[in-house]
Amino acid sequence: MILLYDPLLDMHFPDYGIQIPIRDRRSQAVLEYLQKKYPDKTTEVLNLKTAAELLEIPKNDRHIGREDLERVHSREYVSALFGEGLEAELIKTYELIDERGQPRRYRPDLASQSLTGLFSTILNQVWGTYLACRLALVQPDLCFYLGGGMHHARRDAGAGFCLVNDIVISARRLQAEGLVSSIWIIDLDAHKGDGTTELTSGDPSILTLSIHMASSWPLDAETLSRAVPGRAPLIPSDVELPISKDEQGSYVEQLGTGLKKLEVLSRKRLPDLAIVVDGADPYEKDELPSTSDLQLSLDTCVERDLLVYTFLRERHIPSAWLMAGGYGDRAWEPPASFLGALLDGQG
Ligand SMILES: [Zn+2]
Repeated sequence: MILLYDPLLDMHFPDYGIQIPIRDRRSQAVLEYLQKKYPDKTTEVLNLKTAAELLEIPKNDRHIGREDLERVHSREYVSALFGEGLEAELIKTYELIDERGQPRRYRPDLASQSLTGLFSTILNQVWGTYLACRLALVQPDLCFYLGGGMHHARRDAGAGFCLVNDIVISARRLQAEGLVSSIWIIDLDAHKGDGTTELTSGDPSILTLSIHMASSWPLDAETLSRAVPGRAPLIPSDVELPISKDEQGSYVEQLGTGLKKLEVLSRKRLPDLAIVVDGADPYEKDELPSTSDLQLSLDTCVERDLLVYTFLRERHIPSAWLMAGGYGDRAWEPPASFLGALLDGQG
């Protein structure tokens, strides 16, 4: 397996005065766990630069540019991001101002950096997702990216801590470059991958599966009451698997059934690539209040990931795994345990 990690991806939220329980330490914790528990197993860890070199990507192409965003997001939205509107879009995306106009989980007085400085890190995050997909295509086992997964970003707006949709941006660039034609996006995050679904709906070249909390954000009553028909979060994924609080016992079984449905929808022409949005926030130790409707044990999280891994591997479908959602001090445990289980399996 290849791991992709780079300190350039760290968001440094406290430096911007943002108080969201996303810990930069999470990626390091995954690496330290693997290095400590499996000192003799060789796991290749690449950073953004070494990955681009390995893939022999021409130097001029080693970034995510405006044209990449414009394949996916509206021109108006992209113009706002590259112009005067960036700060306002970041404030909306990270929900830093409440309905009464007061700061929410935001202390600009404690910030040492201008909020707009986040944009370059976010573009690095997108670049990493693209590289993870490229790496997955050239090597037989999975590529796991310690970053990415901004699945709520929609055509003309950011949402739920996701400014732009790295998943679809990468998918569209790969298609534009002729490297793949069809893709599956398998979204295991606790929250519905609603932005991804909006951006790919009606396009049979990208099929989506999302397994998520049935009635928590963005599917809670309040958000739904303001939702616009034909837009996120109302558009169903190709395989939509809402899990209610009392259905958790059948989570893995329902996921297995969903994967088979995805295969049927592909009509025997399997995709060139699968992107797995491997959110850790269904884990019972997750600290974000809006994930409390899903409380999977660590073992179940690993079982979930191994099910998807085995399903894809048996069908020889290359896969890029994105770390995606996961909040609080223990969010590193599900991805670390999954990767550990794969190393255990290597004997
Ligand atoms: Zn999530």
